[in-house]
Amino acid sequence: MTYRSLVLIAVAGVLAACSPPRGQTATADAAQSVAVTPPTRPKVSQAEGTFVLASPLACTVGKDCFIQQYVDHDPAKDTASDYTCGHAVYDGHDGTDFRLPDKAAQVRGVAVLAVAPGVVIGLRDGEPDFAVGAFSQAAVDMDKACGNGVVIGHAGGWQTQYCHMRQGSVKVAKGQQVSAGMPLGLVGQSGDAQFVHLHLTVRHNGKPVDPFGTADACSGAAATTLWAPALRDQMAYAGRQVLNIGFAAGPVAMDDIERGGIAAPVRSSPALVLFVRAIDLRQGDVQTVTLYGPDGQPRAVSEVPALDRDKAQYMLFAGEKLKGATWTSGRYRGVYQVTDSAGRVVVRREATLPLP
Ligand SMILES: [Zn+2]
Repeated sequence: MTYRSLVLIAVAGVLAACSPPRGQTATADAAQSVAVTPPTRPKVSQAEGTFVLASPLACTVGKDCFIQQYVDHDPAKDTASDYTCGHAVYDGHDGTDFRLPDKAAQVRGVAVLAVAPGVVIGLRDGEPDFAVGAFSQAAVDMDKACGNGVVIGHAGGWQTQYCHMRQGSVKVAKGQQVSAGMPLGLVGQSGDAQFVHLHLTVRHNGKPVDPFGTADACSGAAATTLWAPALRDQMAYAGRQVLNIGFAAGPVAMDDIERGGIAAPVRSSPALVLFVRAIDLRQGDVQTVTLYGPDGQPRAVSEVPALDRDKAQYMLFAGEKLKGATWTSGRYRGVYQVTDSAGRVVVRREATLPLP
């Protein structure tokens, strides 16, 4: 539900006050031929039995909502492994955190959906949602760590629990029959929730089960899933992800990105800044952001040296201050790239800004 021992927030950025970097001949077209190495993923097969899960959210996982943390498969205290033996997890986490990109998405409203047919056996509503920057674990009543939530009992001893829902959004009643895909309420930030997300716990006969990999032990080679075959792509192991990328008219802080709705620059803006927030980065990762002008030449570059440890979340930016009266019109382009400790490009995302 929270990052606990992980490093929460890291920031890097430069706002170039003078000339663009010289001696670089990279062009827009050369950049597009970069090969990106996808995350290593186990071979996935369907779990035996009839408990097959639909999506818990009315969004596309990996596109407009993102898996921040999986279930911990490591029984040892103080260490954690996700189902692939990877690091997108914290010690003792018993569910999966599906994160919205920002608070604006919470405000617009993203429905939490029942993953399978069943009966509502518990619920809570009325707990406040944390505002951006206002989370304090000390302020959370840990008896209500789930915040606003719903528990559904399913056939065969299965149970699902949905946590941190938006205050006032729970729309089912205790004892109500629900079908798979039925809206239960909205994603929020109530209870022990450091960011806007749905925490989903699946239990069988009272014991938490990871719907991504039902075996107790983690494995990088094979996983047995409860997700419906139609969700196989969305629920493929995520690895590093870009939560936000965009342009701003000045430096941005993590809370600005979390709030969402940052206004794009116009030709008279005092600065032109490319910002990025990524999640689940690994020790040794090197990140760069590059802002290209309409002529295809780099105008500002920010590079973060190799990370000394895994980072749950990281933001960086690169930009330039306005020197003349207005920005040259044209299509500006930003590129974010992550290179792992083996020198492979593992993330590459672009954003463009047309300035008419
Ligand atoms: Zn959680």
